[in-house]
Amino acid sequence: MPKSIISAWQTTLRREVELAGKGVHSGAPASVVLHPAEVDTGLRFLVSKHGRIIADIAADVGNVKNLTLCTVLGDESGVSIGTVEHLLAALRGLGIDNCYVEVGSKEVPIMDGSAAEFVAAIDEVGLRELSEPRRFIKVLKPVKVEEGESWGELRPHGTFHLDVEIDFDSSIIGRQRMALDLSPAVFRNELSRARTFGFMRDVEKLWKAGLALGASLDNTVAVGEDRILNTEGLRYQHEFVRHKMLDAVGDLSLAGHPILGAYRSVRGGHRLNAHVVKALLADASAWTIVEAAPLRGIRETYYRPMGLALAAGV
Ligand SMILES: [Zn+2]
Repeated sequence: MPKSIISAWQTTLRREVELAGKGVHSGAPASVVLHPAEVDTGLRFLVSKHGRIIADIAADVGNVKNLTLCTVLGDESGVSIGTVEHLLAALRGLGIDNCYVEVGSKEVPIMDGSAAEFVAAIDEVGLRELSEPRRFIKVLKPVKVEEGESWGELRPHGTFHLDVEIDFDSSIIGRQRMALDLSPAVFRNELSRARTFGFMRDVEKLWKAGLALGASLDNTVAVGEDRILNTEGLRYQHEFVRHKMLDAVGDLSLAGHPILGAYRSVRGGHRLNAHVVKALLADASAWTIVEAAPLRGIRETYYRPMGLALAAGV
């Protein structure tokens, strides 16, 4: 397994890599090709049709078109791409700043319902450091969004810290809370294999609405009244809250840069995560862009405000 890089430099993939599967909502075949990209590209989706690129959509909260069950990004012309969150989680979780994701379908393939197969594909090609420092969004003051019984908050913090709590009316899930500092190794080991989950009681409703047509025990932990239907059981203790953390990594990537701050969410989901990112970016006094200052011979990274001379902080 390749070593995890916590790089002060921006990164991209060494070469392109393709994954194929099916869309969890459409049930139709779906595939993506992850391409290397130059500095300051960010994470972008190139939508192709008959071999031609018809849209170039940044993974940016301003391009979110729908948050019902999955995250859908789109542009003004009506082109959209759904179920982007687990792939974005893998890219952000492994510390990839720049990548073009070429998609020829309406959805990113669901794979096994976690980020594991995206992580494996990225590991297969490896990362390359680029010549510009990595840029972060540094949270300067608390920003909180409350929606009914759910709330989410970003606070100033020196790392990207995640603290997620879920509380489901289900004896199988119940209340689970987990907190960790995110690094590529932590993402890979603690979150990347956690699968999406759904309640059997909701399945019929979803299918009638034309959703989750591709959902199966191969890509979803199916929660019944008093048991899990998947014969293989769970992959982790507290797999449910870990998956919500994985989702949050993907959703918070829609800020456009990695975040330096602590995120706490209670009974949240894609909608709340995206609304917290929106609320943060809407308040110019709540954040600033800083860049990593790579120091030769020192493995630690510190962060300096953009525009200050590198020497000033050394
Ligand atoms: Zn998910």
